[in-house]
Amino acid sequence: MSSHHKTLLPAAVAAGAQASTLGVMGGGQLGRMFVHAAQRLGYFTAVLDPDVASPAGLVSHVHVQTDYLDEQGLAQMLQRCAAITTEFENVPAGALYTLGAHLPAAPGAEAVAVCQDRAREKRHFEQCGVPCAPHALIETPEQLAGVDAALLPGILKTARLGYDGKGQRRVATRAELALAWDELKRAPCVLERLLPLAFEISVILARNADGELVSLPVQQNLHRDGILAVTQVPAPNVPAGLSAAARDAAGRIAEGLGYVGVLCVEFFVLQDGTLVVNEMAPRPHNSGHYSIDACDVSQFELQVRCMTGLPLVAPRLHSPAVMLNLLGDLWFDADGRERTPDWAAVLALPGAHLHLYGKSSAQRGRKMGHLTLTADTPEAARATALRAAERLGLPAF
Ligand code: ATP
Ligand code: MG
Repeated sequence: MSSHHKTLLPAAVAAGAQASTLGVMGGGQLGRMFVHAAQRLGYFTAVLDPDVASPAGLVSHVHVQTDYLDEQGLAQMLQRCAAITTEFENVPAGALYTLGAHLPAAPGAEAVAVCQDRAREKRHFEQCGVPCAPHALIETPEQLAGVDAALLPGILKTARLGYDGKGQRRVATRAELALAWDELKRAPCVLERLLPLAFEISVILARNADGELVSLPVQQNLHRDGILAVTQVPAPNVPAGLSAAARDAAGRIAEGLGYVGVLCVEFFVLQDGTLVVNEMAPRPHNSGHYSIDACDVSQFELQVRCMTGLPLVAPRLHSPAVMLNLLGDLWFDADGRERTPDWAAVLALPGAHLHLYGKSSAQRGRKMGHLTLTADTPEAARATALRAAERLGLPAF
């Protein structure tokens, strides 16, 4: 984006001018919430996604329905859009290189390429002086055989294309490790030592081409089966010093990449209090969805501001919040029959903000929506969230 310093104003600001169209690669729920934020500011939107019924494609002015690397699809995006962003890191970097060569792109293809690969990502963390889990790259049978025993028990993760705990196997012994690598089709992997976690947090920041950086308050995240389940803000277990350290580390990671756009950095806090970086995502993140309802600037508006060169301001949390993810499991009863969750029961709770992503079919583990509960105090937000969880049949936290 550095070569394009012109601010792209929305139509409402540039009176009489034609509205700029902002393009997003990927049509999932993150793209959908980006489209909502862009449209609210007066922009037109274009979504590239191969799925005819993608959550973002359904709400965008334009849906370019092709594969990510399709030449005609990319040509259409180039023709229509004034700037480009992405909503998931598995968009082939090649597509972003092509678009970024002609249009302001935030984030840039090079930064996304680092985030796409766990091994490169970890190398970047180390270069920035931010400790990550002890790990080893496993690409060959020799590397597998020679793995340091200190990395067991560990988690074997595919270097590419993992999300929501997919492409991961917990392994306790060398025999299990060998089996797990076979199961993962001997794809390039990273073996990480299993760390004794106290809890998990994330930092979402936005950085512009001038290097100005703002961040959301630190989020505390609870995962179940490798999938985010609950986010709490303010983070109940995080003292001010730890929060400052996490924001500082995330900032260094962004600066080291020359990053422009919204970036999420996930951290582990170990039982002895040590901060360890887990991974990063070159986009808004599930742990920042609460910001739509609880902050004066959401992570999606920050994404719009970054790609258009509009000013960045530090978001303020105006309401303590708890976010509950709504996975497809909720759409099935104990006997496996399909049902609709009782939305009226949760919407009867004060401070409940329901977001459904418009996905046509529910599957177990699939992110169908989220529910944010806001209140005057963290205690009240948590109490309401526990009631909502109970009404939906979700476990307490
Ligand atoms: P996503 O991209 O959806 O956040 P992912 O599939 O990339 O998820 P990770 O973030 O690598 O997965 O791991 C998912 C969860 O598994 C973590 O949030 C954490 O709860 C647990 N986990 C991962 N690595 C470790 C580790 N080294 N030690 C202990 N727990 C871990
Ligand atoms: Mg993760």
